[in-house]
Amino acid sequence: MSSTRAVKIRDCVIGGPELVVMAGPCALESREQIFHAAEVVSACGARFLRGGAFKVRTSPTAFQGLGWEGWKLLREAADAFSLLTVSEILDEQQIEPARRYVDFGQIGSRNMQNIPLLKALGRARMPVLLKRGFGCTIDEWVHAAEYVLGEGNPDVVMCERGIRTFETATRFTLDVAAVPIAKKRLGLPVIVDPSHAAGHLDWVECLTLAGVAAGGDGLLVETHPDPAKALSDGPQAVPLTEFPALMEKARRVAHAVGRSIPAGARLEAAAC
Ligand code: PEP
Ligand code: MN
Repeated sequence: MSSTRAVKIRDCVIGGPELVVMAGPCALESREQIFHAAEVVSACGARFLRGGAFKVRTSPTAFQGLGWEGWKLLREAADAFSLLTVSEILDEQQIEPARRYVDFGQIGSRNMQNIPLLKALGRARMPVLLKRGFGCTIDEWVHAAEYVLGEGNPDVVMCERGIRTFETATRFTLDVAAVPIAKKRLGLPVIVDPSHAAGHLDWVECLTLAGVAAGGDGLLVETHPDPAKALSDGPQAVPLTEFPALMEKARRVAHAVGRSIPAGARLEAAAC
């Protein structure tokens, strides 16, 4: 296996022996929602709280996110539970003001080939989580990363989140082989997003475990206090009540492949 250069974001190392769990809702919706998610995911060992404030939705009439107010809530909730934050940055103008709220700038699947945005994040030296475009080859994804790296920003983590195939039983098809291939091509950490690949809760667990088994350096999982009421991606959200069991299974697979997922600090408090 080729070696991976770890990426360090504050005190968190991605690409080391420990897998890094990033979890939270698809979209930031309310203070209550994000604080509840932060409490449970931190108790289960997650290091990052995720949540979109500016959502790129297929339909213009779908919920577009809370905007800046969402990022403020994300920061507050993350700070309250000693978590870091990961959230999608949509355009160049957002980068500097986002620094107060976002530790790890996500480039969404639909923006993977937005070259000006890639270069701007490269120049800004903000750690980048580069999602794979759902219609892009591994080669194209690797080249997208090179745009960020080429501006002198070494802090890039790749995220396999499923690609569009002829299969319709899942939302996308998780390309597990892309995990070791992208790692070998770039020598950078690769994490797995089982949620967008699955599209439905029923398949999230098996894709989570497959991502860990394939050598993923971390997980990006959507979870929600009440998925039926979620304003975005509810069908694929893991209810917070089920998140501890999912992490326990992921922990066992990580152990089987010689890695680990740290236990949460407040394990008992959330019955994790
Ligand atoms: C997300 O993480 O909420 C998201 C929109 O993901 P993707 O860009 O992979 O569709
Ligand atoms: Mn989503």
